[in-house]
Amino acid sequence: MRAFVYKALIASLFILLWPSICNSQPAADSFFEERKKMVEEQLAAPGRDIKNQRVLEVMATVPRHEFVPEAERKFAYWDNPLPIGYGQTISQPFVVAFMTEQLDPKPTDRVLEIGTGSGYQAAVLSRLVAEVYTIEIIEPLAKRAEADLKRLGYNNVRVLAGDGYQGWPDHAPFDAIIVTCAPDRVPQPLIEQLRDGGRMIIPVGGLEGQELYLLKKQGTKVEQQAVLPVRFVPMKRAE
Ligand code: SAH
Repeated sequence: MRAFVYKALIASLFILLWPSICNSQPAADSFFEERKKMVEEQLAAPGRDIKNQRVLEVMATVPRHEFVPEAERKFAYWDNPLPIGYGQTISQPFVVAFMTEQLDPKPTDRVLEIGTGSGYQAAVLSRLVAEVYTIEIIEPLAKRAEADLKRLGYNNVRVLAGDGYQGWPDHAPFDAIIVTCAPDRVPQPLIEQLRDGGRMIIPVGGLEGQELYLLKKQGTKVEQQAVLPVRFVPMKRAE
């Protein structure tokens, strides 16, 4: 009899506590663990050395699998770029984190991105800054990214279908500019649309090789520094 009472007591305690046991986990999608592993092994690990805590936290929360085609989902947290249709790719997670960290994003910043692609980089930025403006030259990609960003609640991102070479003068100047397709040289309109003291991260070069440059605008001067060899799709020009 006593054993029965104990068992009943333990069972009812378990039932009572069950909701709090479940809720003690942070809101998790089924990729939560994979994303955590991605951050630890591909971003924060020695040799990768992403140090900015805000960037690491955002990379651990933005659902990369929501920005890739259904067939690619199981690879969403692997250490490589993935096809997103129209001959384009979503960048490797490390490259997204590296470029974001180099930009040194501040909560008050207004940022311009050239090359929306899937919208993933814009989503990462949107959690770190005040406003994101992003331009994509392939219209169906721009439309799809815009819909995905809206569906997932990234409400401080505006998407434009057009040639990013020209920037987005209506919303200039920007505190930071990130370019995720490679021109042969830094587009002059983008330098002009960067505010004094602003930062730009941009891959430059042709098929023979590209270098990621970090630019800092100081008055009429632009300091530039090569930070990483990379391989991005070329920047197209509107006909
Ligand atoms: N940042 C993206 C990946 C970019 S792939 C992501 O997070 O998924 C590079 C993108 O740049 C491609 O979608 C390509 O269509 C776009 N692109 C190429 N030239 C462009 C241009 N002149 N203006 C705007 N986008 C351009």
